[in-house]
Amino acid sequence: MYELLVTSSEGVKEFDSGIVIVGGGLAAARTAEQLRRAGYAGRLTIVSDEVHLPYDRPPLSKEVLRSEVDDVALKPREFYDEKDITLRLGSAATSLDTSAQTVTLADGTVLGYDELVIATGLVPRRIPAFPDLDGIRVLRSYDESMALRERASAAQHAVVIGAGFIGCEVAASLRGLDVGVVLVEPQPTPLASVLGEQIGELVARLHRDEGVDVRLGLGVAEVRGEGHVDTVVLTDGTELTADLVVVGIGSHPATDWLDGSGIAVDNGVVCDEAGRTSAPSVWALGDVASWRDPMGHQARVEHWSNVADQARVVVPAMLGNDVPAAVVVPYFWSDQYDVKIQCLGEPHATDIVHLVEDDGRKFLAYYERDGVLVGVVGAGMPGKVMKTRAKIAGATPISEVLE
Ligand SMILES: Cc1cc2nc3c(=O)[nH]c(=O)nc-3n(C[C@H](O)[C@H](O)[C@H](O)COP(=O)(O)OP(=O)(O)OC[C@H]3O[C@@H](n4cnc5c(N)ncnc54)[C@H](O)[C@@H]3O)c2cc1C
Repeated sequence: MYELLVTSSEGVKEFDSGIVIVGGGLAAARTAEQLRRAGYAGRLTIVSDEVHLPYDRPPLSKEVLRSEVDDVALKPREFYDEKDITLRLGSAATSLDTSAQTVTLADGTVLGYDELVIATGLVPRRIPAFPDLDGIRVLRSYDESMALRERASAAQHAVVIGAGFIGCEVAASLRGLDVGVVLVEPQPTPLASVLGEQIGELVARLHRDEGVDVRLGLGVAEVRGEGHVDTVVLTDGTELTADLVVVGIGSHPATDWLDGSGIAVDNGVVCDEAGRTSAPSVWALGDVASWRDPMGHQARVEHWSNVADQARVVVPAMLGNDVPAAVVVPYFWSDQYDVKIQCLGEPHATDIVHLVEDDGRKFLAYYERDGVLVGVVGAGMPGKVMKTRAKIAGATPISEVLE
C-alpha cells in the first residue's frame, strides 16, 4: 500500500484523500468494515499509534490477563488486504487541519482526506502524585495487559485502586491467579455511580466471597517503595503490603491531538446524533465521542456494543445514505469470576431499584424512573436480562413488569 505515498517538494509524504480513520481499535475496525460492506470503494486508511492490528479490549482484563488467550485481533491481516484497507500502524496522528483537510502524523506524514473519522478512544488516568515505581500499572492496551500479566505472575499482594468495571475485573482475574487483592474505592460501594449503592453492595459481596479485601469509602494517600512499590498507605492511615498496584480510576478521551483544530471537545468530541463533529467532513464515534442523544443531551458511552451501534449510523450518514431508525437499547457486560454482569437499558444510580432475584451470588434488578422500566441489571442471569429488551424499548410501566 505504501507505493501510494509520494514525496512533495518539502520532503513531506502525502497521498490523496479518501476516508481516513484515526484510531486503531474497535471503532476504527467496525467503521472500515461497514464502509466496505456499504459499497464504499474509495481509498480507506486506518491510522493507529499502536503497532498491533486493531484488537478487542474486553479480554485484556479477563482472558489475556489470566494467560488464557494471546491473540485478540478483531480481524486477521488478510482481511485488510482483501478489503483494500491501508493500515498505518505505529504512527500517531498529532494534528488536524480541517481547512486543508489534512492530518499530520508523528513521523511527519501528512494525509489528505475527503472524510475523516475520529476513533481514538481513551487514555487511562494515572495518579501524578505517585512516585515512579516499578509495579504500578494501568490497563487500557494490549501491551499494558501483557505487562500486567507478567507482573501478576510473580505478585503476591496486589492493591487495585478503583472499583469500577475494569478495577473489579482485574481484581477477579488476579484472584484467579491466586494473588491476594485489596480493592480500594472512595465511593460507598463498587460501581456506585453507575449502578447505585444497592447493586454495588451485591458486587462487593461477590468480591468478598472470593477473598478480596474490599475497602470502601477510602482513597490512597501514598505509595512507597525503593525502585519497586512495596507499601500502599490508605487515607485512614492503614499501611498495606503491595508488590503490585493497579490504578483503575477511569480514563479521559484521547483528544489532545485535536488541540488547535477547532473541533469542539467537551468531555469527548462533540457530535450530533449521527456522529458529525463541529467541522465539515469530520466524524467521531466510540469511546472518544460524545453523541447527542434523542433527548438532546450529549452522552459519551464507554462500552463495546455502543461502537457497533454507532458505526451502523455514522457510515450511512457519511456516505449520504438513509440512516436506520432502529431503537437501540444500550447493553454492556462485565465478567467477574464465573458471573457475567449484564446491563440493558440506561439504569442510573438515582433510579428506584427493584431487586427481584438474589440467591446470595446471582441477582436480577429492575430500574424504575418516572414509573417506567428503564434498565435491567443481572448477574449470572443472561436469559432473564435479555428477555426484558422489548419491555425497556417500549417504556413499559414498572407495575406491569413486576406483575
Ligand atoms: C480492559 C478493558 C476491558 C473492557 N471490557 C469491556 C466489557 O467487558 N464490556 C464492554 O461492554 N466494554 C468493555 N470495554 C470497553 C470497550 O472495549 C470499549 O468500549 C471499546 O474498546 C471502544 O473502542 P474504541 O475504538 O472507541 O476505542 P479503543 O478500543 O480505545 O481504540 C482507540 C485506538 O486509537 C488509538 N489512538 C489513540 N490516539 C491516537 C492518535 N492520536 N493517533 C492514532 N491512534 C490513536 C489507541 O491507541 C487505540 O488503539 C473494556 C475496555 C477495556 C480497556
